[in-house]
Amino acid sequence: MKVPFLDLSLQHRALREPALAALTATYDATRFCLGKDVEDFERNFAATLGYPRALGMNSGTAPLHVACMIAGFGPGDEVITAPFTFISSAWGINYVGATPVFADIEPGTYNLDPVKLEAAITPRTKGIIVVHIFGQPARMDEIIAIARKHGLYVIEDCAQAVGASYKGKPVGLFGDAGTFSFYPTKNLGACGESGAFVAKDESVHTKARHIRVHGSDRRYYHDIIGGNFRMDGFQGALLNVKLPHLAAWTTRRQAIAARYLAGITLSDTHLPEQPGYGKSVFHQFTIRHPRRDALREHLAKYEIGTDLIYPVPLHLQKCYADLGCGVGSFPVSELTASTCVSLPIFPELTDAQVDHVIASINSF
Ligand SMILES: *Cc1c(COP(=O)(O)O)cnc(C)c1O
Repeated sequence: MKVPFLDLSLQHRALREPALAALTATYDATRFCLGKDVEDFERNFAATLGYPRALGMNSGTAPLHVACMIAGFGPGDEVITAPFTFISSAWGINYVGATPVFADIEPGTYNLDPVKLEAAITPRTKGIIVVHIFGQPARMDEIIAIARKHGLYVIEDCAQAVGASYKGKPVGLFGDAGTFSFYPTKNLGACGESGAFVAKDESVHTKARHIRVHGSDRRYYHDIIGGNFRMDGFQGALLNVKLPHLAAWTTRRQAIAARYLAGITLSDTHLPEQPGYGKSVFHQFTIRHPRRDALREHLAKYEIGTDLIYPVPLHLQKCYADLGCGVGSFPVSELTASTCVSLPIFPELTDAQVDHVIASINSF
């Protein structure tokens, strides 16, 4: 039985008619940049997920960049994030001329460890970018308490965590700004590049809205430094078609995860921990095994697709060589990167496929 790591065609085939109708309407109305589809999406997204308001942007990297601009990070400032994430979590820090500083993760959830976070704070530290990795909420109470104590700006990278909650509240509003990605492979995927920005403070939202369109509120009057971070109309149109399905897709991801958690019994396997404070939306289901590469080969023989997310932690990436963090700097992130393997988890997987993955792992 074939089990692809991810197959986007199933979801898009099922939604083909309403999707093409919505995209055609956008085309006919030439609503190409922002416009009604994006405004409708912003309203629907905020209402569905529990945010006071939201802004559509043109990637998941864009709102991270915008949030770093609003935070006022700059040269000489340090901003802390986890090394075990997608590189984009840190890019915004570089874009505004500040310096990324890493703090190691917890082995159980792969999320930022608050103890390591506090130990990484220096007099130059200005902010924290918290990543809710693989859809699992990070320890926000501890992280926010540390941020308050040291006067730090907090940005939540929710790119993988749309719909996830911490102690019953949606991720993204615990700090000063929250960011989302709707890259096609994410839990809520567009038909191109897009993302979103949320903030509980209306003045932060307003500033982000101006930055999104070249720092302007009125056309050709630029009160602040901005850029082009606009969502395009086609993305809004497709996301409006998909949004009503997100809750069911998330429930299905959680059911698949529960099946993996109950079924995988292979010894020496670390399964992702599910602490009571957070409800994961399982963007990935990532396990650790000391013989990870052999396990992947074994699964490939059973026609099961897997992926390495992430094979190299940020501090060991060439682009960050100048930060001077060598091998051994962040042992938990390094252990995770060298032993992790992500299993297929997308809503259209059948129970039979999931059971085939479980049986194949257990037979390793
Ligand atoms: C996908 C992702 C991003 C960036 O999103 P893009 O839409 O690709 O720009 C940022 N952070 C994390 C953790 C992601 O997974």
